[in-house]
Amino acid sequence: MAKTQLIKVDKKNPDREKIRQAAKVIKNGGLVAFPTETVYGLGANALDENAAKKIYCAKGRPQDNPLIVHVCSIKQLDYLVKEVNQKALLLMEKFWPGPLTIIFDKTDIIPSGTTGGLDTVAIRMPRHPVALSIIEQSGVPIAAPSANISGRPSPVCAQDVLEDMDGRIDLILDSGACTVGVESTVIDLSEDVPMILRPGGLTKEDIESVLGNVRLDPGLQEGQRPKSPGQKYRHYAPKAHMTLIEGPLEFQVKTINELAKNSVKKGLDVGIMATAQTRHLYRFGKVISVGDRNAPLTISSNLFLVLRKFDRMGVSEIFAESISKEGLGLAVMNRLYKAAAYNIIKGT
Ligand code: AMP
Ligand code: MG
Repeated sequence: MAKTQLIKVDKKNPDREKIRQAAKVIKNGGLVAFPTETVYGLGANALDENAAKKIYCAKGRPQDNPLIVHVCSIKQLDYLVKEVNQKALLLMEKFWPGPLTIIFDKTDIIPSGTTGGLDTVAIRMPRHPVALSIIEQSGVPIAAPSANISGRPSPVCAQDVLEDMDGRIDLILDSGACTVGVESTVIDLSEDVPMILRPGGLTKEDIESVLGNVRLDPGLQEGQRPKSPGQKYRHYAPKAHMTLIEGPLEFQVKTINELAKNSVKKGLDVGIMATAQTRHLYRFGKVISVGDRNAPLTISSNLFLVLRKFDRMGVSEIFAESISKEGLGLAVMNRLYKAAAYNIIKGT
């Protein structure tokens, strides 16, 4: 593949010519990384099986991990899905565009290469003006997983995309940092009680405010079989060995201080993922605050950035605090569990 081009695009007012250029690459079966409000996506024409194959190839993504298809209007669903039920309609009207992905039965127009062989398709309408403009301008739905090498932390800025994808894709549109920072919430509405297959940028509480009781896929726990194929793989992993500490905050800080001390004594380079409330309490290792415990969006938007920062610093051990699973915290903790490969120390 030729050199990867990087173009800056204004977030609020995307330059039409640049969007046209990106849309042309998509229409011609190429790959474009573009910003969404969650993370940067790696986009290709969702109706073109060959283009979808290129995504799997560029990411090194397992073939059975289906892609999310991005649309710019609810109307587009007419030819993409067999049926839109009442619950889906309610959610789309309230939360689209936004970080919510809904599973539908697909029509034949979507190749099985896009859905990892499934008869269902995951669809989302992103809120980011650049994402919406490219989808609109290209005239096709766009399949777009996160624009990282499979297994690595998702990219939330163009530099992170370039780090993983340089030379593997045609174009990167750079509109600065993503505001949400964790991927969309994936929901299955096919049963009586709606089920979250992946917690994400739209909170369980928000969905419950519209649909009433919602449950989390029990398969999301370690060692279980998740309903969503992509959830079984190792994800979001930094290069360092990572340990997540859970329990009362005092326990977390005390444990991390002890672990960090021991690791530093052994000559290891240690990174500590702290929060605004605790960063001054650590005496060993390289301490980075991921955000403010009272403002979960500061944490979600920074999470993957901090993991990549530790990679660049070359630390070999990361000790991370945990946060409350309320609101956005549920998605943040899901990412941390996976980043740490369920290597958890729990205190009471
Ligand atoms: P990513 O594109 O990396 O953000 O991951 C997409 C997520 O959506 C993965 O966890 C997939 O398993 C999930 N997903 C996509 N399509 C489907 C589908 N048809 N059924 C269930 N989960 C899906
Ligand atoms: Mg991903």
